[in-house]
Amino acid sequence: MSKMWLFSRQQFAKTCKAYFKRTVKTAATRVRFAPSPTGYLHLGGLRTALYNHLFAKSRNGIFILRIEDTDQTRKVEGSVAALIGDLNWAGIECHEGPNNAGPFGPYVQSERLHIYQEHIQKLLDNGSAYKCFCTDRRLNILRRDAIKRHQIPKYDNKCRSLSNEEVKAKIKSGTPYCVRFKLLSDCQSFEDMIFGGIAYDVSLNEGDPVLMKSDGFPTYHFANVVDDHLMQISHVLRGVEWQISTTKHLLLYRAFGWTPPQFGHLPLIVNADGTKLSKRQSDVRVEDYRNKGVYPLALVNYITMAGGGFDHVAGAGVSLKTMDQLAAEFQVDKINSHPSRLNPDLLEECNRLEIKRQLLQEDTSKALVDQLQKLIQEKYPHENLNISEDHIRNVLNWATARISRIEELVSSKFGFLWILPSQNNLEINRNVLEKLVNNLENVDKFEQNSLKENLKRFSCENEMKFPVLMKMLRCALSGLDEGPSVAEMMQLLGKRQSLDRIKAVIK
Ligand code: GLU
Repeated sequence: MSKMWLFSRQQFAKTCKAYFKRTVKTAATRVRFAPSPTGYLHLGGLRTALYNHLFAKSRNGIFILRIEDTDQTRKVEGSVAALIGDLNWAGIECHEGPNNAGPFGPYVQSERLHIYQEHIQKLLDNGSAYKCFCTDRRLNILRRDAIKRHQIPKYDNKCRSLSNEEVKAKIKSGTPYCVRFKLLSDCQSFEDMIFGGIAYDVSLNEGDPVLMKSDGFPTYHFANVVDDHLMQISHVLRGVEWQISTTKHLLLYRAFGWTPPQFGHLPLIVNADGTKLSKRQSDVRVEDYRNKGVYPLALVNYITMAGGGFDHVAGAGVSLKTMDQLAAEFQVDKINSHPSRLNPDLLEECNRLEIKRQLLQEDTSKALVDQLQKLIQEKYPHENLNISEDHIRNVLNWATARISRIEELVSSKFGFLWILPSQNNLEINRNVLEKLVNNLENVDKFEQNSLKENLKRFSCENEMKFPVLMKMLRCALSGLDEGPSVAEMMQLLGKRQSLDRIKAVIK
């Protein structure tokens, strides 16, 4: 075997980096979505990913997926793959990430431990961080005492004042330690891209925070800042729950002597009545929406309708935008800073519009027909069915005005559309039906209102009570006692299908 190919992992990483340095110019706008792999992707996570994606896309920037898995105890097996699957489904492409090589990888934090080790040393060397040898037992006592005294529990920064000799002795004796950040009493402020001016003195409520745990893993705050800097993140757009941490992050940037990115925090997503979304509700998982027949573009538009970020045209009604349109119209300063209220009616409307949009394009409409064919076959495996493409398209054209999920079309209410009536139990008057066939052959437009008028006229001319005629006709068309009005059924089935069904009964 040729020796040329025997790269060590480090050599390989070095070669990749050199290659990317030569070939990739880093974009001015670089944003990231940095989920922890602790479970499924929920609506809030999708919103954060989406707004980062739109922000990058609107500025020809780069969107990075970074997996923040430093808390290994909370890691859920399979969640990274599921997360990437959900993002792909939603139409959010990552330029750099675990599955897309880039110049600043690896993009999974547990694979970057050597980088954090290197960087924690810098803070230890410049005196911004120190080793802490306090035991869990001591920390628990501190916490309990504080609670007893109705004070905010916080670390008392005891190890800050250990002498060099004391530190050396403890290390020599093998005492485990973590590394803490010296939190200076300093009110940090920043201009939040969405909330405006924010100022906060972290040290009022917190003791010195841990940056490196005793097991060699970094904490969220440390890894997050190091990675945002090394990955040249220009803008951090994340959920508002992280806003309280931002001033702490700014202190870390300062300790390193780095320029921080710009920060923007996205408000909470809440129910229509302002209550919090609950993880127990079935409507927070992206996967649940997908399984219930919601289309990706519908879900994406629904989220933007709650979150803002676009010019609001009063009275313009709901319109569905493609991802390209959304990116072109996106304005970060138009994102709402008040909680984003979801209006489920809008989701239905978006999904209805998406079905309509898909029906208009050849490739997507074919997929829609296939999808419906499959659903019908699954629902009625033992029936004699009409699922011809023509018939399905006909129904879909009608349906876009009425339904918002394709699945509705396989509910029993619409069974007559697909199931051909069986010839049993039919009480019919052949004579009248033959006349009716001749009459209907001359009707050009199979539209429910004119059909109804026509049937009324026919019942008078043939001295048959209208309800009796309708009952017979319903039976001939569907073999069922219930369903939408007969004229509506005929419109839905179309002229050919309606006449074929009646003729089959006469025979
Ligand atoms: N890992 C954090 C999360 O799970 C990321 C927060 C941030 O974007 O800084 O949401």
